[in-house]
Amino acid sequence: MKSQRCLIAACLLLVMAVPAFADPMKALIVEGQNNHRVWPKTTKMMKQYLEQIKLFRVDVARTAAKGTDPDFQPDFAKYNVVISNYNGAAWPKKTQEDFVSYVKGGGGFVVVHAANNAFGNWPEYNEIIGLGGWGGRNEKSGPYVYFNDEGKLVRDETKGRGGSHGSQHDFSVVVRDRSHPITKGLPTEWMHVKDELYDRLRGPAANMHVLATAYASQDHRGTGRHEPMMMTISYGKGRIFHTPMGHGDYSQECVGFITVLQRGSEWAATGKVTVPVPDDFPTARTISKRAYKE
Ligand code: ZN
Repeated sequence: MKSQRCLIAACLLLVMAVPAFADPMKALIVEGQNNHRVWPKTTKMMKQYLEQIKLFRVDVARTAAKGTDPDFQPDFAKYNVVISNYNGAAWPKKTQEDFVSYVKGGGGFVVVHAANNAFGNWPEYNEIIGLGGWGGRNEKSGPYVYFNDEGKLVRDETKGRGGSHGSQHDFSVVVRDRSHPITKGLPTEWMHVKDELYDRLRGPAANMHVLATAYASQDHRGTGRHEPMMMTISYGKGRIFHTPMGHGDYSQECVGFITVLQRGSEWAATGKVTVPVPDDFPTARTISKRAYKE
């Protein structure tokens, strides 16, 4: 009897000590409408990136191809983190309410690229994502947030559109807070593979923390300002990670993007990060890609 109890205790200890034995967390990617034609592929890519680290099992919830889909009613509460690859028509009222109470109650949410174009007129969504672009956004949506050359965050309340970008190119991402779990151990500066560098994003930007920026060079028709590229937002008890990166499948093959998506999703789900910085992470001078295979 005694040895049996010892065995049980030893097994319990082992299970607790080795998180790899634990069941993966549950993640949900929402998609179905997007002005980016690459979207079904980018959902598959992100699903693979999140599953290959063994931390998540990923479901996908897809809306109808057009208009508000009355049947789109994912059970958000079942998930540790929801990732949006959606930029389309409004969700049904009940789904909107479920989503807001999911985040408010402590759910994790991750916003990728054009998901921040969605729902320009949904106030809670805009509080959740901090900043967004297009979708009718302007000064009424909130300040344009950027970093000036002195490294200070500016909240620009002047009139103007929300969201624009110059021509696509490889660009440097500069980490502004190296102490956050998502950025800890990343190089201060790293080259991101060709992407749309979103600029002039606007929103309530409440309870938002900018982890990294990228300089939108005027040589590429950018703003000449340092634009937020990685942000965290808190909303109620919920944690949100937002990256405007990820326009093309090539952009999402960037090891920087992959790592940041994995770490940001883990942080949104748990408040901690265990995903290591991989050996093939880009450097300040060189991009690094992993060719995607289904
Ligand atoms: Zn894009």
